[in-house]
Amino acid sequence: MEKLASSKKTKEIVKKYGFRLSKKLGQNFLIDENIIHKIITGAEITKDDIIIEVGPGIGTLTQYLAEEASRVLAIEIDKKLIPILEETLKDYDNIEVINKNVLDINLKELVVSKFKGQRVKVVANLPYYVTTPIIMKFLEEEVPIKDIVVMVQKEVADRLKAKPSTKDYGSLSVAVQYYCEPKIVTRVPKTVFIPNPNVESTVIRLKALDNPQVQVDDKKLFHNVVRASFAKRRKTLLNSLSFSDLGLDKDQINKILKSCHIDPKRRGESLTIEEFAAIANSISRIS
Ligand code: SAM
Repeated sequence: MEKLASSKKTKEIVKKYGFRLSKKLGQNFLIDENIIHKIITGAEITKDDIIIEVGPGIGTLTQYLAEEASRVLAIEIDKKLIPILEETLKDYDNIEVINKNVLDINLKELVVSKFKGQRVKVVANLPYYVTTPIIMKFLEEEVPIKDIVVMVQKEVADRLKAKPSTKDYGSLSVAVQYYCEPKIVTRVPKTVFIPNPNVESTVIRLKALDNPQVQVDDKKLFHNVVRASFAKRRKTLLNSLSFSDLGLDKDQINKILKSCHIDPKRRGESLTIEEFAAIANSISRIS
């Protein structure tokens, strides 16, 4: 099968099958081979790698992934794309396509059953309406992964890699950096997709850390502390944490912050991940 990464070939396939691209499902198909090469290089794919691709579309990126990796498991929600993928990927014997919503899958179980728990790389041009839930699902459900290399909206990439005291720093930055080291692979113009999306894009690599960046006694409590600290960005940490569902009053929060050597007048957006961990561990030890 001829490669799909061109406007001409993509239009030809779409026309042949009378396929109508769905905005609702975030269907913006890649038509630029250079960007695909940057994704492949950014993910440092070798013949030992097992890839999970979320949303293969008509199979454009999938073809290249299959050539570089040992196996590719592609998960596509849109059943109208399945007959197309059967044609476009027919020359590859190392690709399996699953017709499901990725958010409904027990991914950890899937990786254990299909790949004996071997660590996988997630590589995808993600549907932008569900970028964050998809990334967080792979991380929070502790799917054995080496890397997540994904095309996302530029603003999301900026939040994923943001550092304390910057405008993009928020609970998503902390949640992702707890598990991974983020690195921008490349910025991507709108013109490399059919149809052009309304937003700029970025390919980002989230390299899984061998151990989380900080030690926390209670992961759920840690995430609750982070969420509460960012809930009202203009409030002090003391106010944010004492008017949250952590169930602690001002006196208790004051004592906790003092024990962590954190000024209660600071705002959540200035805290490092280590400081969030210290607060969460201090709360879990008094309760
Ligand atoms: N990989 C193709 C490419 O680069 O040309 C298509 C990428 S397109 C941005 C996103 C793809 O994700 C679409 O094929 C869409 O149908 C699929 N998709 C959307 N939501 C999904 C979900 N919840 N689970 C699995 N696939 C999904």
